[in-house]
Amino acid sequence: MPEKKPATRYIYLTGGVVSSVGKGVTAAAIGRTLKQRGFNVAIQKLDPYINVDPGTMSPFQHGEVYVLDDGAETDLDLGHYERFIDIRLNQDCSMTSGQVYAEVIGRERHGDYLGGTIQVVPHITNEIKRRIERVSKSTGAEIVLVEVGGTVGDIESQPFIEAIRQMRGDLGRDHTAGIHVTWLPYIGATRELKTKPTQHSVRELRAMGITPDMIVARADHPVDAALVEKIALFCDVEKQAVIPMETASNVYEIPLLLEKSGVAEYLMKRLGLKARHKPNWSEWQAMLDAMHRKKPVVKVGLVGKYTELEDAYMSVREALRHAAISEGVELDLKFIAAVDLEKDKGWSDLHEVAGIVVPGGFGTRGIEGKLQAIHFARHHNIPCLGLCLGMQLMVVDFARELLGDEKANSTEFDPGTTMPVIDILPEQKDIHDLGGTMRLGLYPCRLVPGTQAAKAYSAKQVEERHRHRFELNNDYRAALEAKGMVFSGISPNNQLVEIAELKSHPFMLGTQFHPEFLSRPTRPHPLFKAFIASAKKSGKSRK
Ligand code: GLN
Repeated sequence: MPEKKPATRYIYLTGGVVSSVGKGVTAAAIGRTLKQRGFNVAIQKLDPYINVDPGTMSPFQHGEVYVLDDGAETDLDLGHYERFIDIRLNQDCSMTSGQVYAEVIGRERHGDYLGGTIQVVPHITNEIKRRIERVSKSTGAEIVLVEVGGTVGDIESQPFIEAIRQMRGDLGRDHTAGIHVTWLPYIGATRELKTKPTQHSVRELRAMGITPDMIVARADHPVDAALVEKIALFCDVEKQAVIPMETASNVYEIPLLLEKSGVAEYLMKRLGLKARHKPNWSEWQAMLDAMHRKKPVVKVGLVGKYTELEDAYMSVREALRHAAISEGVELDLKFIAAVDLEKDKGWSDLHEVAGIVVPGGFGTRGIEGKLQAIHFARHHNIPCLGLCLGMQLMVVDFARELLGDEKANSTEFDPGTTMPVIDILPEQKDIHDLGGTMRLGLYPCRLVPGTQAAKAYSAKQVEERHRHRFELNNDYRAALEAKGMVFSGISPNNQLVEIAELKSHPFMLGTQFHPEFLSRPTRPHPLFKAFIASAKKSGKSRK
């Protein structure tokens, strides 16, 4: 008889008390502790908003849009999942209310429910369950962690909670576990942490038919044993299942903190699972040790548009951190607002940095400031990494000076420019909808031997994630090359410049793709590594 594939286990994470307490990082770190025991793990994020995906949302509101291999535009929590667990997820791992409603309404218009009244229960909840269950099929995961965005009690997330309640009944308690992540506020006057909001939040969850199996109690101060006991008693969970989680100065400490508190062992016992092997944390520990060592500081400036909200550049920041660890330097990252540079502000910061990153972006605000930063980096031999829009602006700056047309631009910012060195992708010309229509996801890129890019990757061809509508205009390729720009990464059909670099500069390299999405804490991205290595050198030699 063929061996029956063991049924998928589901671990649901809900949030209580307040949002932004690091539920995504907690889910990712728990996922990692399970992966360390030989399990194939996936995580899915359920976002209660009605947008179909975050692709059209302002990074000011939700932080960066994270892109997956298959081109799904997702919440930045997917970035935590991929980085912590070192996995590649797919579009099924990101679900929004918008997608669920669009699907159900589409079916209704098609006549699939003819005669029926479409309701939240069961039609919406059934669709949610279908979307949760398909994750294990498309990823092959044996354990699927499901993180519900927002906090319990939000009107919007109720269908998700109800679907989870039903799934727990359908699949049985031995196949499902619930973790409630809460917050213990600190009262300064009495110098104590309070558990009451956690108790209320668990009561609210219970009222919706879900009793959590585990409580992760987040706090900014140490959570002592008496508090753990109190939470266990009032919230009806076992003492070992109350996991105190004090805010860590470094998020990469969290998997080991959770390992020590026995989260994985408890969950495995609850779900009837046996570890395939002992967890081996030596590589992760070595990464943390390297982080803790005292090292020379390298100051890097990130010249961006959304600098008030650092989450808007989450993956870029993390990729820089990963590269700094492996290059043995301490990253001092300065966020510099591009618009400030236009108003003669922020230049003292820029003068101090050993490297400049110009990240991706859309829209005209701050473009001239970014161009000024790139111009400064080019003329002062400061290592500079341009990501997507950053690469496009490197080309614009270079063309303005070396091809002698001050009006050189991207048609995104000046549709009537006399020198459109960056232009819309031909396949994008007739697209009018903004959602999900860019050139998205993984595409191959051939590397030109002998270039900085080829050396950094030490490969002939790579695949990287994209999210753009504009590209380098091939009409200007020869002229730019003649002036010293090197196109070191090209699409296999030779139609699209994927990487541009400068010959006569220590490190000036721009990518049309987003390398930051593939960087991992123990496997930094080669281009970020090369950039930091170059900044480390120049930092020392700079006056
Ligand atoms: N706005 C540019 C484009 O659409 C760059 C996009 C980006 O940086 N992700 O091509």
